[in-house]
Amino acid sequence: MSNLSHVNSEFGNPNLDILLSSEEIARRVREIGEQITLDYQGKRPNLICVLKGAATFLSDLMRTIDLSISVDYIAVSSYGKGTSTTGEVKILKDLDGPLEGRDIILVEDILDTGLTLSYLLNTFRTRGANSIRIATLLNKPERRRVDVEADYIGFDVPDLFVVGYGLDYDERYRNLPFIGILKTTT
Ligand code: 5GP
Repeated sequence: MSNLSHVNSEFGNPNLDILLSSEEIARRVREIGEQITLDYQGKRPNLICVLKGAATFLSDLMRTIDLSISVDYIAVSSYGKGTSTTGEVKILKDLDGPLEGRDIILVEDILDTGLTLSYLLNTFRTRGANSIRIATLLNKPERRRVDVEADYIGFDVPDLFVVGYGLDYDERYRNLPFIGILKTTT
């Protein structure tokens, strides 16, 4: 790689502490992909990516699954900064394909309060999916407000705001190859 040490560096941003390195993430993603390959033998799972944060995870994960799969994408609005207990989530971009009879793996970046995934689970159940499982790269168990469990979890993380590997702060930092903790948001 060319020497970029003289340029403005986002990857070396002093405002970030590395929580999970790209190597740790890659290793764990591969393990999850291998587990999914074993669990879905004889099936053709449909991986549904919750945009935008989970796009990086999906992109790496699907290349470690040695099965015939399909992918689809959904975009939802967040319910506003932690105020709602009802988990009102709006679909901004719906799936392209039907779920009838399909084995679904919902791919999420981080399972936090659980409001987003509980809404999506309920919605997808009404669409006639044969089975639905959740794969989340990160899990913040301390923050859960509704009862949602993931079937595949990359890492349990503490209640800290994290960025990178698809996760943003105000649309920034999605391109970091690692997961970092943002020290300040100013
Ligand atoms: P939940 O409905 O489980 O509370 O929301 C999950 C969503 O909240 C994630 O998909 C993500 O977009 C956002 N989120 C929760 N915690 C964090 C975090 O630490 N960093 C970032 N960047 N987003 C988070």
